[in-house]
Amino acid sequence: MEKDSILTVSDVRKYFKIKEGIVKAVDGVSFSVKYGETLALVGESGSGKTTTGHLIMGFYPPDSGKILYKGKHDLSIPIKRRSLELKREIQIVFQDPGTSLNPKHIVKDIVGLPLRIHGLADSSSVYGKVAELLEFVGLGEDFMFKYPHELGGGEKQLVAIARALAPNPSFIILDEPTSALDVSSQAKVLNTLSRIQKERDISYLLITHDLGVVRNISHRVMIMYLGKIYEEAPTDEFFRGPLHPYTQMLLSSIPTLTRQDEEIKPKGVEAVGEIPSALSPPKGCRFHTRCPFAKPICSERDPPDVVADSGHVVRCWLYE
Ligand code: SF4
Repeated sequence: MEKDSILTVSDVRKYFKIKEGIVKAVDGVSFSVKYGETLALVGESGSGKTTTGHLIMGFYPPDSGKILYKGKHDLSIPIKRRSLELKREIQIVFQDPGTSLNPKHIVKDIVGLPLRIHGLADSSSVYGKVAELLEFVGLGEDFMFKYPHELGGGEKQLVAIARALAPNPSFIILDEPTSALDVSSQAKVLNTLSRIQKERDISYLLITHDLGVVRNISHRVMIMYLGKIYEEAPTDEFFRGPLHPYTQMLLSSIPTLTRQDEEIKPKGVEAVGEIPSALSPPKGCRFHTRCPFAKPICSERDPPDVVADSGHVVRCWLYE
């Protein structure tokens, strides 16, 4: 266990049995999140990124592997068996604040509930503490008596962030926190999340499919495809020199605003087809059915991890 890691995930697997067979949603995933950093976990729908976040939250246990928090707390156990202290430390912000906020409750009660559950406020102090949290996320006290339906999308997500901050966590999972928002609300929410991290020294695991968001707030990036991680790098290096053909494909398909950005975009890496079903992932490198550089070995054997540079790891036969 690295001493500077708040979270360590080691060889974690989660398979789901369904009528048609077994979905290998997470299949041997290892990574760590450092104190105070934002690690982005990026992938298309069906990559297993959200399942990874849910395993850390304890919504269901892994089939095998270990998840350790602060080097000593076992997160392989479901949330209902975790201590109140551990539940307080690890929070999540969901993608759609429209469904994650109770429509029948006013903001004061939504943000106040975790304060009461964790014994951090009573009826005499809850108002002041909720007001402080709303101020901290940039909303102000006036929002206290509003219902979720009276708020815009960005405002609802800021309320969800205030609720996540209420128990004073050290680690927050951000599950596509801006994908349901318009562009200006996205910018406001991302700026707020960055400021909060600096002021409170919180670690984030950012789950997203949006590389624009990654560039804005993450320190490191990991690319997930069909249940496995295929590339990991510090954010600057990731955008300057992506190595895995799948990463290059993702980067080549994002729209750019400047000629400079357009020039550094990877060229000639157009993948074919759709992501295959996780019910029957391809043998060997799971990307081989779409990869323009696939060699015979790619469909036979899983590629090994290759360390390309400090902190930059790629899983691809091209670099062996
Ligand atoms: Fe492509 Fe082979 Fe690398 Fe997979 S291992 S990304 S198929 S070249």
